[in-house]
Amino acid sequence: MNNLDSIKTEVIKCFHCGNETLMSQKGEYSWGSRDIEYGDFDYLYEYELFACSVCHKVTLRETYGDETMMEPCYDGPMRWHSNKNILYPINSIDSSSIPYKVREAYGAALKTKGIDKYVCLMALRRTLELILKNKGATKWGLKDKIEEIAEKGLLPDTLKEASSLTKILGDSAAHDKDMDIDQQDVESMAEFVKFIIEYLYVVPDKINSYKERLSSKTDKRV
Ligand SMILES: [Zn+2]
Repeated sequence: MNNLDSIKTEVIKCFHCGNETLMSQKGEYSWGSRDIEYGDFDYLYEYELFACSVCHKVTLRETYGDETMMEPCYDGPMRWHSNKNILYPINSIDSSSIPYKVREAYGAALKTKGIDKYVCLMALRRTLELILKNKGATKWGLKDKIEEIAEKGLLPDTLKEASSLTKILGDSAAHDKDMDIDQQDVESMAEFVKFIIEYLYVVPDKINSYKERLSSKTDKRV
């Protein structure tokens, strides 16, 4: 806490511009067990909005802590800890239905989105390659892997096209640094790879869970 004007400042990594910079807090909100009438488990969610001093864009951070989150401290009493998570800008994809490697690769690509366009496009290309391998592609080149998975009927034509574009831009980022790649290209490719992930993993998982829910409802009716 800054004693002079009581504005909280903190060094935070900005996922818009990539700078690790001193940000000032612009807003906050919290809620937890204290707001629930019959809660017998202590927990607290805190939300803080920070502004980047370099690019002026905002970061929203969630901090969660509960009564189980304490750890021994050798030079004193127990110490509380909490989980801090940047909710905005989105820098990861969170679904248990996505294979760990794919989730990690896509998260790594998103983290570089506003920092290095070329690195991000190469990371998206790598994510696509991992997805296709996970879906059973065995061919060597990425172009052939896309064909292979499309032929199996796993990728509809529109997403096959999205995959090809991701490959083309990823290749350009790796080999042809003079190609005019702008932020919009990076945003579009990140979105295309997200569509592919959603189509192949997230949507089938959601439909299956709903089917289970529906069958348990119909079981009850019988
Ligand atoms: Zn920034």
